[in-house]
Amino acid sequence: MPVSPPLQGARLTLERASRLLSSGKLTSLQLCAYCHELADFGDQPIPTIAEGNRNEAGAVPPCGLGLNAFAQISSREELFRDAAESDRRRAAGLALGALDGIPVSIKANIAAKGWILSAASRILDGWEERGKLSTTASSRACTFDSDVVHRLKRGGAVILGITNMDEFGMGSLGNMALPPQSETKNRNEQLHLHVPGFVRNPAPYLKYLVPSFVFDEELMQADEEDLDELWAHHLKMPLLWRHPDLLDNLKSKEMAEHPTISAGGSSSGSAASIALGSSLLSVGTDTGGSVRLPAAWTGVVGFKPTYGLISRFGLVAYASSLDTVGLLAPTSRCAAMAMDVVVNRRYKDPSKDQDEGMTGERDSTSSAVAVNKSFYNLSMPRKSLDGKPLDGLSVGIPCAFSVSECPSTVRMAWQHGIDRLREAGAEIKTVPSCLLSSDVIKASLPAYYVIACAEASSNFSRYDGIEFGWEGEELDKENLSYSDSYDGPLSNLTELERRYSQLRSIGFGGEVIRRILCGTSVLSSDRFHTHFEAATKVRAFVAREFEAAFDDGVDIMVAPTALFPPPDIGPDGSEAPDSTEMFANDVMTVPISLAGLPSISVPVKVDDGREVDTRVGLQVFGSALAESKVLLAASVIEE
Ligand code: GLN
Repeated sequence: MPVSPPLQGARLTLERASRLLSSGKLTSLQLCAYCHELADFGDQPIPTIAEGNRNEAGAVPPCGLGLNAFAQISSREELFRDAAESDRRRAAGLALGALDGIPVSIKANIAAKGWILSAASRILDGWEERGKLSTTASSRACTFDSDVVHRLKRGGAVILGITNMDEFGMGSLGNMALPPQSETKNRNEQLHLHVPGFVRNPAPYLKYLVPSFVFDEELMQADEEDLDELWAHHLKMPLLWRHPDLLDNLKSKEMAEHPTISAGGSSSGSAASIALGSSLLSVGTDTGGSVRLPAAWTGVVGFKPTYGLISRFGLVAYASSLDTVGLLAPTSRCAAMAMDVVVNRRYKDPSKDQDEGMTGERDSTSSAVAVNKSFYNLSMPRKSLDGKPLDGLSVGIPCAFSVSECPSTVRMAWQHGIDRLREAGAEIKTVPSCLLSSDVIKASLPAYYVIACAEASSNFSRYDGIEFGWEGEELDKENLSYSDSYDGPLSNLTELERRYSQLRSIGFGGEVIRRILCGTSVLSSDRFHTHFEAATKVRAFVAREFEAAFDDGVDIMVAPTALFPPPDIGPDGSEAPDSTEMFANDVMTVPISLAGLPSISVPVKVDDGREVDTRVGLQVFGSALAESKVLLAASVIEE
């Protein structure tokens, strides 16, 4: 079998970090210093050969990987203050749980008090060109915490930064409100771009950032406690001590060509940050695959639980009936560990006999049921079962997902995953097309885009610059106006309508405008029945098909996450596939989103004879609220 598990042991996991903190081998301050340095390095511009090592003043120019993963990174002062507080709690024996002192990042469409809630859009973030602001630097900072952030903070997690994304979650390439080149030119030459660029995939650089002990087979056989010691030692060193050849390596010919592989999207920055190791957990959102796709393309784990299981309170809506808060993490057990903190569990505070109950009460689409089990414990393969931890679990292979476009590399990974599950004692069954029809795959994509665009057009009507969103101060100041090119259509409008029109035309990026127009069209009286209503019927059909297949006796199913590998978008993003080309790649994730089911993407390393490290995302999904089974099977595939 020419396939082996991904980067086994080469990445710091949340599980290990949590253990290092609780055993006292590492402090949160040390861990946060490590992550902050890495996050900062990841986002600094790439050194060019021309810049050499030093500039004229003899200083080393900013040097990094140019990933664009973060929209904001915490200042060291703020981060270290929170970390030190966690260390004090721990020293006093009052640690708040497994995530206490762990640096986490949050996607830019999830509210976190003190941080800018931009959803990577100018309509929310305003006009000025923004760099990486400190949390205190802005008067536009968010005034409240989303439920998920509230729970993370209550569990002691420390926020390292806010991650970049496709504007409002629309897209798959981490394209942040960057209007298409032509649009920029036509509209206004002096356009400042919000946060220019795409999020880039750190994969080409990871080989230079792996701890050296990982390559020592004997050391890697050591028991976990010894490995913990090695990791603790590694994490305490500054970046260039750990990797003295790093800068030279980055200037090597291969790297000088600046590999510009996409990190996927829309939770692009979250995935890039987990892949690089700069955050140990990142909260993302998945409407039609936005947690799973970037996870697959960056070689990390992306978990989308059942719709509404993690509260949607505080999430910037794209398509409300589909938007699901999800987690990106180094492994599925790390995701399970975090689930225990972010879902509505009974909170063991002796002074309260109940959870504070934000979930359900403050968002009617979020699950109000308190979960009493531990996802982490349930996702742990039980060693006692003779090496067969999946005994009794029935795994379905849905024929419907085996589309002719599926390349051989992806099929190899799929087969590898199935073999692992079988070895672990699972019963493998084919789910024939008579149970889960191939129409599910064919019909889901158009239905998804009709529903998502319709809901978005309705959700986004609130961004009018009066009630919500950018007020357009700069429109007047900088004389940004469309009057030249838009004289015709705008000439009949009232002053107010003209203002709405200008604000929204400049405030939204090209992809968002396209989708608002599409959504408005499918909701118009002409098309409501033929398009929108038809799409909702397809959605109901898809949900019924999955339900029937699960009722027929499979516990979980396994399928690929994406059909294509991440594309090279070119140094300026100009080689990126256009958005309609990208739609086709959502074909594996979207049906599961329409049905609201839990699904996790885990990376499987495929040896397809090429020198490069190929990792393919495999999706494990189950019926509603079957997250424990999904997490358990995923952790077996990863082992
Ligand atoms: N690529 C899909 C879209 O553009 C999925 C996005 C998402 O899940 N947020 O809608």
